[in-house]
Amino acid sequence: MKVAIVPGDGIGREVVPVAEGVLRYIRPEWDYYPVEVGYGRWERCGAAIGAEEIRALSEADAILFGAVTTPPDPDYLSVLLQIRHDLDLYANVRPVRGPGVDLIIVRENTEGLYSGIEWSLPGSACTLRVVTERGSRRIARFAAGLVKGGHLTIGTKANVIKSDVLFRRCVIEEAEAAGVAWEEKYIDALCLDVLMHPARYGVIVTTNIFGDILSDAAGYLVGGLGMLPSANIGDKHAFFEPVHGSAPDIAGRGIANPVAAIRSAALLLAHFGYADEAVAVDAAVNAALAAGVRTPDLGGAASTVQVGEAVIGRIREWM
Ligand code: ATP
Ligand code: MG
Repeated sequence: MKVAIVPGDGIGREVVPVAEGVLRYIRPEWDYYPVEVGYGRWERCGAAIGAEEIRALSEADAILFGAVTTPPDPDYLSVLLQIRHDLDLYANVRPVRGPGVDLIIVRENTEGLYSGIEWSLPGSACTLRVVTERGSRRIARFAAGLVKGGHLTIGTKANVIKSDVLFRRCVIEEAEAAGVAWEEKYIDALCLDVLMHPARYGVIVTTNIFGDILSDAAGYLVGGLGMLPSANIGDKHAFFEPVHGSAPDIAGRGIANPVAAIRSAALLLAHFGYADEAVAVDAAVNAALAAGVRTPDLGGAASTVQVGEAVIGRIREWM
């Protein structure tokens, strides 16, 4: 198994080594190799990612990613958008788990308002929201496959936006074909209801930018951005990253919360069939937090590295 390690920029460079340490502890026999992309590379050679890095990433079975800072260049193409596109990582899976909350937000990752089809004119600018039947059906099948017993919630603005009428129809047809119960909610009302009644929700599927906003908002339920992991899954590639960005405001101080990155490593383990190990990592994280080993964003005084050591310490006791 080949695992590309991409720290990126900012706090990515602090939290990824901690998550990598957890992975290496559990699967020391895997082949881990670093790939440098992001702002640092952009400063050196004018591009945040090159063909060589794309090749290194596409040769990996799994990618553990940190975060990248967006360079101040109006023509800059986002590294993440490029990787998602080139590796066709169409499903962005964002579990939100904590006391009284166990939901998964499945965000379509390749189209919608992130189509990349946009242009500026004097006095106006346009971004095309592209929703295709193929894109909607495959994300619907993926999301329906995650429903265990409960129902699938479809978040749209189909009362206003034509492209969501198509999305909604495709998802409903795929859910019914899969024998999965479904409900639909308008995304604005859903954002509020998820915060007020999180226990009502299991798997939520929605389009690109709605899923991005909903999952950041849902982070409120479990202690903030530093807690939320994510997976980007395609038919051939799998990419795991914290939901948060590079957080330049706290970078370099050793205080970033590594839980989102460590939980992303747990998602990686689960994706490749190491379910027990993934559960052990999540349990170790929860035990460390419960014992008060917390970074300042959670009100504690522990460093990034100390949280990592506490998590590995607990895994060592159990395994
Ligand atoms: P980017 O442009 O890379 O997204 P950003 O400034 O938007 O960077 P984010 O990482 O998206 O920063 O996070 C927003 C804020 O939340 C940060 O400024 C930081 O204060 C806080 N934050 C995010 N992630 C963490 C973390 N892992 N630990 C502690 N605080 C965090
Ligand atoms: Mg951000």
